[in-house]
Amino acid sequence: AKQSISQNVCFYDGEMDDVARDRARMAKDLWQAIEEGQFKLNYQVQKSIATSETTGYEVLLRWVHPERGNVPPVDFIEVAEECGAILPIGEWVLREACREAATWEPHLKVAVNLSPVQIAHADIGALVDQVLQETKLDPSRLELEITESSIIVDKNRAMAALQAIKALGVSIAIDDFGTGYSSLETLRSFPFDKIKLDRSFMTELNESDEAKAMVRAILALGQGLRIPVLAEGVETSEQLDILRSEGCHEAQGYLLGRPGPTVEKSVGLAA
Ligand code: C2E
Ligand code: CA
Ligand code: CA
Ligand code: CA
Repeated sequence: AKQSISQNVCFYDGEMDDVARDRARMAKDLWQAIEEGQFKLNYQVQKSIATSETTGYEVLLRWVHPERGNVPPVDFIEVAEECGAILPIGEWVLREACREAATWEPHLKVAVNLSPVQIAHADIGALVDQVLQETKLDPSRLELEITESSIIVDKNRAMAALQAIKALGVSIAIDDFGTGYSSLETLRSFPFDKIKLDRSFMTELNESDEAKAMVRAILALGQGLRIPVLAEGVETSEQLDILRSEGCHEAQGYLLGRPGPTVEKSVGLAA
């Protein structure tokens, strides 16, 4: 059985060092933020490279704290995971995202990030099912993005969770592919519908032949496994040109559109 994480962090202790105290304070603020509705969502466009058409939007969480101001996810997701607040936050994100997407044109998909903690500590299949019924969003329009760290903790549990999600008709993308623990074994044994090529590859794409070779290899892998590849962090038309000539399917990044508060405001410069 999983240990309960919800009681983990949220107390003060005179012995704590500054870092621990800051984190405890943030954990307390996070629980309050849930109650007070300080979170909002941004949307970033995803486009087909061949046709330039919008295929969907990724949902990105934003925290507007009354004193701290805008707190970026890199500064709070980890604390939220440690203290368990990511469970109610993640549930809110999923529900809001599906509610919003149900108002879009019906060919557009919505991509929602899932924390490893949601897979390890929530009945994610039941939650997704419930939210789809509540919001009446067609399951084929929802994509859940997971990182490989979701899988390595407990492979069997992760497999069961992903299968429950797939059984609903919801698709699954592997996020940040090519970094961290990425292994070919995971790609082969889990039922992914999309590979999201980590944006670290884009940075070097125009400079190094090695980066290009890596991208080409991952695209070939996707092709062999019949899994489409989306490139993240596309900032320049040079990068987009290379991706197009290498047969990459979709792209996301500042060139195509910055994250914005509404899908209309997530506008592209070029495509
Ligand atoms: P991610 O899932 O890899 O999301 C993509 C991040 O790259 C976003 O940062 C996005 O704003 C940024 N980005 C997009 N295009 C470009 C580009 O062209 N160049 C550069 N330099 N960056 C670009 P953001 O919104 O700060 O989110 C950071 C991370 O926080 C996300 O990485 C994801 O891991 C996590 N996150 C965000 N929202 C959620 C959520 O609702 N739930 C969970 N569990 N995690 C979330
Ligand atoms: Ca993501
Ligand atoms: Ca990513
Ligand atoms: Ca990332």
